[in-house]
Amino acid sequence: MIEFINVNKMYANNVKALQDINVKINQGEFVAIIGLSGAGKSTLIRCINGMHEITSGQLIVDELEVNSLKGKDIRKLRKRIGMIFQSFNLITRTSVLKNVLVSFVPQLSFWRKVTGFFTKEQKIKALTALDQVGILDKAYIRVDQLSGGQQQRVALARTLAQNPDIILADEPIASLDPVTSKQVMEDFKRINKEMDISVIMNIHHVEIALEYANRIIGIRAGKIVYDGKSENVTQEVLNHIYGDSVGDKESTEEGDLAYV
Ligand code: ADP
Repeated sequence: MIEFINVNKMYANNVKALQDINVKINQGEFVAIIGLSGAGKSTLIRCINGMHEITSGQLIVDELEVNSLKGKDIRKLRKRIGMIFQSFNLITRTSVLKNVLVSFVPQLSFWRKVTGFFTKEQKIKALTALDQVGILDKAYIRVDQLSGGQQQRVALARTLAQNPDIILADEPIASLDPVTSKQVMEDFKRINKEMDISVIMNIHHVEIALEYANRIIGIRAGKIVYDGKSENVTQEVLNHIYGDSVGDKESTEEGDLAYV
């Protein structure tokens, strides 16, 4: 379980990115965080794995207080929390399989790090993860020869190979076309359901968020202004989150609403 108790986050430039956040996320939930650009979505997600430190309050992940963890303990926690980015963060000039094997690098002995040898068990785990996202047949292809959607699946496989309990996804479909976006969202949904992995995702395509996530957290100027089931999100709720910002609303090819 992830629990924010009266959490505030202020950056060095005095921007209050998060204000008095109180939220509990149970294991196995699929949560989409929505809100205007600059609302604090990314900050909220990045506090969960300690990428950003909270300024006050408590942030607890499975009984561990994230801010008090150091060195080995924070690395241990991060091993259980996969992170997916908009830009995929892959090593483009090497194979798909090697990109997934990268997830084992922190666990390798010094000698193996130097020689780049991975165990048979690690290779099997990596190949299994590629199979779980439907791209096992691409294992030996160079990453830069894949489509954007396939590259995001490689990133997802790399995360799965580390056997996470939680996946944090920061705008994972922002650079994908609408059809590919849905395919990637299907992967997230399946992984969430079949493997009981919590998914917490920032997303600016509201209709996609409502279709795939079970729970929506709406943030506005660093504060949670909606927290509830996707099916209870009405136009009024959206106006509350986005502040009637019709001018900021874009219509994409598929007619999805994208708030930017
Ligand atoms: P979102 O993900 O909703 O676009 P962010 O969490 O990235 O929002 O940003 C929330 C606020 O914090 C914004 O005002 C942003 O400019 C500010 N901010 C984000 N990262 C930093 C940083 N590293 N240093 C200073 N201010 C930041």
